[in-house]
Amino acid sequence: MTTTERLAGRTALVTGGSRGIGRSISGRLARDGALVAVHYGHDHEAAQRAVKEIETAGGRAFAVHAELGVHGDAAALWQEFDARLADRGEEPGLDILVNNAGISVPGTVADVTEENFDRLVAVNARAPFFLVQHALGRLRDGGRIVNVSSAATRTAFPQITAYNMSKGALDTLTPDLAKQLGPRGITVNTVAPGFTDTGINPTLADPQVRQAYAAASVFGRVGTPDDIADAVAFLASDDARWVTGQWLNASGGVVLGP
Ligand code: NAD
Repeated sequence: MTTTERLAGRTALVTGGSRGIGRSISGRLARDGALVAVHYGHDHEAAQRAVKEIETAGGRAFAVHAELGVHGDAAALWQEFDARLADRGEEPGLDILVNNAGISVPGTVADVTEENFDRLVAVNARAPFFLVQHALGRLRDGGRIVNVSSAATRTAFPQITAYNMSKGALDTLTPDLAKQLGPRGITVNTVAPGFTDTGINPTLADPQVRQAYAAASVFGRVGTPDDIADAVAFLASDDARWVTGQWLNASGGVVLGP
């Protein structure tokens, strides 16, 4: 377990930070010294456990609740974030925003319903857009935005085509924002995971599926949430100060082709 002080004095918010990849990102940023707002949608207990885990390891964190998606309210998320910081007597403001929350709906173009398409776009593209919009006044100069997309946007994976479209929309946000926020020293980058062992991939319980996903990586295994969290932590750090507008493939080489 890596522990550094490279994010000491920074405040971060990780959407969907209570489980899966987001939970690892929350833990990793806290171990690097950041105060972490663990955002969650529904699972209050999971968020409390994630906060507790960080605090037990000597880090600092608090939970922030907000529904994202079709009925989401980005303004409400930030109001709660502001209130929690004030409760703790912390300085207002934000240094690192990780747009990690996402959903997947399986299906080719023949299968996906309009309702599911709208849900995908609402959570995976609309929510990050408006979260950033409301974050602009809170982000301190020199800050960081990291968007968690998917390696599937740069390869053909028709089994989840609507998901890929929604993440493709998120991909296009990164360079535009990088250009807009560069004069403030804020970097904006994308991390694109490949097959990663989380609840979003229930089919990984099937050994044959797991083997096929593992074989897609040049390393012959499925990714772990920590594999992704470490890439996000790099982009959130000063070490990545000269890196912006980029799409970082964190997939174990999945998009390199056969
Ligand atoms: P996960 O299902 O474990 O976590 C998703 C997180 O998003 C959860 O914390 C969930 O509460 C939150 N979330 C989803 N819908 C929400 C809503 N409407 N309101 C508020 N929060 C909501 O899956 P994960 O694998 O940890 O996914 C994290 C990110 O990584 C997602 O954006 C996903 O698309 C991306 N990703 C995952 C993989 C993979 O193989 N696991 C591959 C590529 C990209």
